[in-house]
Amino acid sequence: MLLIRCPYCEEERPELEFRHAGEAHVVRSGELASISDEDFEKFFFIRSNPKGVVFERWRHIHGCARFFNAARSTITDRFYLTYKAGEPKPEVDFSAIDTGPAAWANREPAEPNVAAGAEPGKSD
Ligand SMILES: [Zn+2]
Repeated sequence: MLLIRCPYCEEERPELEFRHAGEAHVVRSGELASISDEDFEKFFFIRSNPKGVVFERWRHIHGCARFFNAARSTITDRFYLTYKAGEPKPEVDFSAIDTGPAAWANREPAEPNVAAGAEPGKSD
């Protein structure tokens, strides 16, 4: 079972307690009424959706019910770290991690270099 670390409860809990809440760090314009339809479409619908590590919002719906952010691999579902909502996006170097499927097949992935102050929230 996949375990996810809630940064508020400060413990790893089963994935069934959590709900995905979309991409993290999407900036909402203070001028939504005056922006163009194209810019509104980009804000509202267009997400990066990369292959590899993404930053996402999650909610501990069956726990403390709070929102937090996480860095997760879309290839392996591995959570590298979690942090409280409102905290800045951690400066993490994921370039040392090979995110190709073949590289994950027979070994444990390397740990990312986490900036000072960020707490790893890994689970498998
Ligand atoms: Zn929690």
